[in-house]
Amino acid sequence: NETINKIAAGEVIESPKSIVKELVENSIDAGADEITVEIKNGGKSLIRITDNGKGIEKDEVEDAFKRHCTSKISTSDDLNSLYTLGFRGEALASIASVSHVELITRTGGDSYGTKITLKGGEIISKEDIGCPVGTIITVTDLFFNVPARKKFLKSDASESGNINEIVVSLALSKENISFKYINNGNVIFRTPKTNNFLNTISSLYEKDMYNSLLKVDYENNGITITGYTTNLNYYRGNRKQQIVFVNSRLIKHKRINYFIEAAYNTLLPKSKYPACFLKIKIDPSLVDVNVHPAKTEVRFQNEDNILNEVKRSVYSALNSNNI
Ligand code: ADP
Ligand code: MG
Repeated sequence: NETINKIAAGEVIESPKSIVKELVENSIDAGADEITVEIKNGGKSLIRITDNGKGIEKDEVEDAFKRHCTSKISTSDDLNSLYTLGFRGEALASIASVSHVELITRTGGDSYGTKITLKGGEIISKEDIGCPVGTIITVTDLFFNVPARKKFLKSDASESGNINEIVVSLALSKENISFKYINNGNVIFRTPKTNNFLNTISSLYEKDMYNSLLKVDYENNGITITGYTTNLNYYRGNRKQQIVFVNSRLIKHKRINYFIEAAYNTLLPKSKYPACFLKIKIDPSLVDVNVHPAKTEVRFQNEDNILNEVKRSVYSALNSNNI
């Protein structure tokens, strides 16, 4: 199948964090507006994602775990104008192949749901079950059958730190979705469903950062950049609070960080890092999101033009001084 061949094959599942990301993106694609992420021991012993999305049809539950089975693309052209987050049909198959999975799901059209369990990709059981509309997927015993990879998992604290970071990013990318994050039984945060980026930021960070935010609201040459960036008095020792989305997709792009910081440097040379939350909207045909299967890396056409617009958007926020 040509569609499949156009998709670069690769490792989707390298860590608990990548599992959380893939599963939450599935919930987002399913139209959920309430998503709960629960982990234990850095995701090694348990990752559970609960959503109120549209669920999976009874006769499609098994197929969802087959490699390259996706309900999200029909032609290879769709790959060029991608709006849903998942598109390789690889995540569930990959995750199930290295763990124990239980999936409970129901669609609005059915009066009862389906529960399926798998171990190492093999279906162990499948039965009808009463449950709310939506999907609950539970991943346990990660890498039980790949000891080499299990050995390379980091400490619980380190893996849960990575998961925390990705859940924060996902929550920021969707201010119309309420995210609840539970780590070892403790609710770490819960974002509101207010469709207001500032409310979401304030539910995730301390007050001193919130109080130093300046509004970014910029448009030029078909690029729209909105969000918030901190004033010249707020700095961190790292870039963890610089979060950038392109067409709602979290991206990592070192040069964008440099250009954000360059805007600050023109006003005040400094050694540390501002916080910055930007949402860039751009014609999807100018972005190649398929550079790496983990999908946080992107390549832009006319990269320098776009980066200069980012710098200008931050620079004008720093000069406007209002929230
Ligand atoms: P992809 O997201 O690339 O299509 P996945 O392996 O992540 O591939 O998921 C396979 C399919 O399972 C999806 O296309 C979707 O139809 C279904 N699916 C997975 N998770 C959910 C969910 N939380 N809610 C509804 N459908 C889901
Ligand atoms: Mg997916």
